[in-house]
Amino acid sequence: MPTPVTDPFKFDELLTDSQRALRDQVREFMEGVVLPEINDYWEKGEMALDLALGLRELPIVGGTQEGYGCAGLDCVSDGLVKYELCRVDGSISTLFGVHSGLAIGTIGMLGSEAQRQRWLPAMARMERLGAFALTEPERGSDAAHVQTTARRVGEYFVLNGEKRWIGNGTIADIIIVWARDESGRFGGFVLEDPRQLEGFTATAMTGKIAKRAVHQAEIRLEEVHIPAANRLANCSSFRDLTAVLANTRAGVAWEAVGLAAGCYEIALHYACEREQFGKPIASFQLIQAKLVEMAGDLAQMQLLVWRLANLLENGTATSGQLSLAKQTCSVKARRAAALAREILGGNGILIDNHAARLFTDVEATYTYEGTNEINLLIAGREITGLGAFI
Ligand SMILES: Cc1cc2nc3c(=O)[nH]c(=O)nc-3n(C[C@H](O)[C@H](O)[C@H](O)COP(=O)(O)OP(=O)(O)OC[C@H]3O[C@@H](n4cnc5c(N)ncnc54)[C@H](O)[C@@H]3O)c2cc1C
Repeated sequence: MPTPVTDPFKFDELLTDSQRALRDQVREFMEGVVLPEINDYWEKGEMALDLALGLRELPIVGGTQEGYGCAGLDCVSDGLVKYELCRVDGSISTLFGVHSGLAIGTIGMLGSEAQRQRWLPAMARMERLGAFALTEPERGSDAAHVQTTARRVGEYFVLNGEKRWIGNGTIADIIIVWARDESGRFGGFVLEDPRQLEGFTATAMTGKIAKRAVHQAEIRLEEVHIPAANRLANCSSFRDLTAVLANTRAGVAWEAVGLAAGCYEIALHYACEREQFGKPIASFQLIQAKLVEMAGDLAQMQLLVWRLANLLENGTATSGQLSLAKQTCSVKARRAAALAREILGGNGILIDNHAARLFTDVEATYTYEGTNEINLLIAGREITGLGAFI
């Protein structure tokens, strides 16, 4: 039997030696440590925190953030990390992404030097985990209009409001809460050791079909007092936050590609081994059509995110390009997950074979960091020059 082709357009050759070495290191951890254990966590809906904490041994925490003990990766390497995490598991990828991308990234970009010195080193060591609390029960896509308030009282800000879908919200040591002050000014307010703060409650959301091995929280803030010095110094409008979200949106595009790669590889190997009618199912034309569609989409996605990372690296990526990449890759990843599930037949319904887990995880990837529609609208506004929303 010939060796199945898992890298159809030789994506590997576009990478530098150090990028390839980092990718291999993350892949070894994900395949050796996470893959054998993750289904158990997923089935029980248990947070795979102990598995995720193993990532602190790799030189990847903090992504592109430089200094303060963070990894200071180039944009392709940072993307490859997300790719490798999601190629094996979406929950670990989200747990890590919220901490390393959203929380560290926000403090790195919008904190003062003193704030970065104060919070980032312990976060880079993953001794203190971060969360990012933007979404609210009544404000999802319309996140610019959060209803949570931060009222200045002497040397404190007093926070009131509700947040929903907050990854790591039940375990985080540092939560960045997005709110508006009395003058309506948007800002980020850092809660340290939140579970010890009076008026703070975080409850894990249950009944979730995707990313079951990471918890998202519903958070209530009732007259929660935090020091005034915990307001992020370099954020005075929602526009400031969009710079952070631009980076993390690129990360989710890479996530989608990794997930599609995982699905393609699972389906390809399965199809080459599974026999029906006396032959491997990979020899049937209808199965080959599905595999070729997956291979073609994967190659297109890999080239797209690689190019996006290079645009980010030289500082010229636009918000339309970031949205287009996230939207395109999420749609193709969703298709890849559906095809993989299908090629595995009944086994595609069982988590033992991993395709079923990726099949549900992709639904979250499709929805967060801007839903499919929101990213279409942002890309549409850029390519036409005409805004179709807000
Ligand atoms: C697993 C998971 C993890 C998450 N983690 C976090 C986190 O850590 N921190 C955080 O702050 N948030 C997090 N989120 C929240 C996520 O960002 C939101 O779910 C997302 O922004 C969409 O908001 P919504 O779910 O309220 O949907 P809604 O905004 O209510 O949208 C519902 C539907 O309406 C469509 N829609 C909305 N507006 C328009 C429009 N103008 N035109 C056309 N269609 C439109 C949407 O595309 C969608 O299909 C997470 C979500 C999930 C599922």
